[in-house]
Formats: sequence, C-alpha cells, structure tokens
Amino acid sequence: MSDTPPPQTYRVKSFGCQMNVYDGDRMGDLLTAQGLTAAADGTDADLVVLNTCHIREKAAEKVYSDIGRLNRKDGTAPLIAVAGCVAQAEGEEIMARAPSVRMVVGPQAYHRLPEMLQEAVAGRRVTDTDMPAETKFGALPRRRRSGPTAFLTVQEGCDKFCTYCVVPYTRGAEVSRPFADLMDEAQRLTEAGAREITLLGQNVNAWTGDDAKGRTVGLDGLIRELAKLPDLARIRYTTSHPNDMTDGLIAAHGDVEKLMPYLHLPVQAGNDRVLKAMNRSHTVESYLRLLDRVRAARPDIALSGDFIVGFPGETDAEFEDTLKLVDEVGYAQAFSFKYSPRPGTPAATMEGHIAAEVMDERLQRLQAGLNRTQVAFNDATVGRTCDVLVERKGKFAGQMIGKTPWLQSAVVSTSAAIGEMLTVDITTGGANSVFADERVRAAA
Ligand code: SAM
Ligand code: SF4
Repeated sequence: MSDTPPPQTYRVKSFGCQMNVYDGDRMGDLLTAQGLTAAADGTDADLVVLNTCHIREKAAEKVYSDIGRLNRKDGTAPLIAVAGCVAQAEGEEIMARAPSVRMVVGPQAYHRLPEMLQEAVAGRRVTDTDMPAETKFGALPRRRRSGPTAFLTVQEGCDKFCTYCVVPYTRGAEVSRPFADLMDEAQRLTEAGAREITLLGQNVNAWTGDDAKGRTVGLDGLIRELAKLPDLARIRYTTSHPNDMTDGLIAAHGDVEKLMPYLHLPVQAGNDRVLKAMNRSHTVESYLRLLDRVRAARPDIALSGDFIVGFPGETDAEFEDTLKLVDEVGYAQAFSFKYSPRPGTPAATMEGHIAAEVMDERLQRLQAGLNRTQVAFNDATVGRTCDVLVERKGKFAGQMIGKTPWLQSAVVSTSAAIGEMLTVDITTGGANSVFADERVRAAA
C-alpha cells in the first residue's frame, strides 16, 4: 500500500458505555496534541476513529455497517481506525473483513495511537490489542477542555466474571488509577470549566488507592477528597456492583453534600436461581437490604439499575420475579436488555436459550413496568426545590436543559448560560424529563 497524506482533521465516533465516551475524548486529546483538528459538524474528516462496543451482538455488528458508510462526499475513503472493545475482541477479523481499516487499537493501548498513525500514513496496516503493564493514563496529554459536566475514569476492568459478560475479557482485570493522578485530573477539569464530575469504572465502587497521607481508602475516600475542590459542585459515580457497596460509601451518601442522590446499582434479574446462574454473587434479598441501608443514609436517593431478560433457562415465573422487584424498588431510571450470547462466555453454551419472540415480549413488559416507576418517581418530585446545572439549549427559544440532583433532565425557561447552576421549583413530571421554574440565579 502506498503512502497516504498525513491527516489534518479527525472525528472520533464513540458507541456504548460512558467509559467509551471518556476514552473517545482522550483519543481526541491525543490527536489534537499531534496537531490534528476535530472536523466540524457536517464536514468530512481525514481520519475517522470508530470507538466500538462489544457488550451485545447488535452493538458489535454495527461496526461493519458503519465502516461501509464512511466514504466522503468526493467518494474517497478516510483513514479508518477501529478502537474499543470490538477491536480488542475481534481485531484479526476486522482486518480480514474490512480492508479499508488501517488501524485496530484496543481500549488499553490507545495511547499508542500517534505511533500507529505514522505507520498507517506510511502505508502499513497496524493492530495493537496489547494490555500493557504500563498504564495508558500516564501517556495521555493533560486535559485542557471540558464542558460543565465531565467524565473521569477512575477504575477499569472487572474480576467478577458474570457468566453472560465480555467485559473481563475485553477490558481485562480490575485496575484502579492512583489517587494523586485522579485528584490532579479532577483539578484540571474544574480549571477547564467542569462543575460536575462523574467518576467512571466498570466496577467503580471497587476503586481503591492510597490517599495523600498514605492511607488505603475506597471510593468514599476519593469522593470526600474531591468534594474539597472549591470549584466542583457535584460528584456522581457509575457503574457500581452490589457486592462492592461498602459502609463508607453508603455513609458518604448521607454526609457528603456534593455527592448527588443517585445510585446506579444493576441487579440484572429478580430471581435467585437466575442470579446464581449469572454468577452475580448477590441475592434478591441481599440487594433489597442493601437498598434499605442506602435509603436510610439518603432517603431521597434515586435508584437506577440494569436488567437482562431471557437469560438461558429463565422461566416465565422467574421473569415475573423481576417485574415484582421493579415494583418493589421503584426505580427512577433503568437500562434493560435482551440477553445476547457473547462468544467465549460461559452462558453462551448453557442450555435453554430463549426464543427471540419470548425475549421481545418480556422486554416490552419489563420496560412498561420500569416506565411506570420512572413516571411515579418524576411525579413525586413535583413541588421540590432543587439545583439544576444547565448543560444545553432546549428545543424552543429561551429554554435550557440541565440535570436535577436526581439525574432527571429538567427543562427550564431561563436566560441562563450553559454551565450556570439554577435554583428551580419542579412543576411538572413526565416519562423522561421534568419541567421546572427558575427561582434564584446563583452567581456564575
Ligand atoms: N459492571 C456493571 C455491573 O455489573 O452492573 C455493568 C457493566 S456492563 C458494561 C452494562 C450492562 O450491560 C450490564 O449491567 C448488563 O445489564 C448488560 N449486559 C452485559 N452483558 C450482556 C449480554 N451478554 N447480553 C445482554 N446484556 C448484557
Ligand atoms: Fe460484566 Fe459488570 Fe459482571 Fe463485570 S460485574 S462481568 S462488567 S456485568
């Protein structure tokens, strides 16, 4: 293959979880540091990075159809890189199936993107799916850009091996980033304009590190220290595993004002036999008692979760148990999925795979149930006074949209700018958002 002119512009398209959004932003930082500029909306880019997701089959297959659609207005193909978890799991297959792809880079190796780009420009096709001992984070440029809300990956990987899940294979073992690095990155984010930081990890509450005094602390220790940053107004974290919900973290929900009253705590199913087959290592009862403790610490907490319907062998009665759990908990938000067999995971070869139409029907019933609890939650917040951090413009002139402490999208008529914190009264509930009236404008 002949030499290609070095790309001047790039676009990173991220799919899947928030950790991919974080990685996509960091790849953008790396490319910017190499002198490339982000392609403006609606224009062709010289380099396109597809930052992919492998969690379900549909998400993984999407990459091949996306590659086919990347041609530019003049009919030429951009330089294409495939990154993320599909790259990690199917690197060789991508290279074989998609000759236009010039770089394949796994989630633990993307700090090497600049060198890979040089190789690709010289006409070579390059793959890097190593999980190097050195962390990529140390090799990434310092963060200089941020909107009012920012993600900060504090932990990666997973040692839990739920029987349906590819994450332990694509992201590797659990690794926590050092405390000092995280404090430094958070400080820089606030200097760049972030007022809310969401700490990310596949099992974020498994994070552990040594604080400035050398004491080993858990996620609550990190949150307490971050709360001291004067320009940081709000802290969130996701995704947590029930087994890593420590007493300290629960207590932090009661006494750290900047920690928002929202907890995403996936349960996956409402039946103990199914949970055991999933290797979840919690029961319905232990999950409910955990929620009791969280609610005792923070009575107004909004609860969210992930659910899988149609796990191999799930009976109608076992699925009904999930519906009961949804009503009992009263989720404020949730994500629900049809089980998708992933190559190499134990569940993929289990007996009793569920027919597609049964899964469809179960998913519809589950989503109807979740929709009811979500509307009930939003309705119950009508009349509350709270803060809203303005994130973007609304659909109509004079409308802005931001988040309440409970992570509801709030539509407010206001002249406030993006990044301002408003005090509002919630006036109307809805399925996916609430409407609110502005009360007092805090100083910008
Ligand atoms: N670590 C988190 C936990 O255990 O709760 C979740 C991380 S995973 C990226 C996000 C969600 O994807 C899971 O909670 C699960 O509901 C869903 N998921 C994972 N593997 C799946 C599969 N094979 N089929 C369908 N949904 C799946
Ligand atoms: Fe996947 Fe979460 Fe289970 Fe880890 S704990 S294997 S990331 S579902």
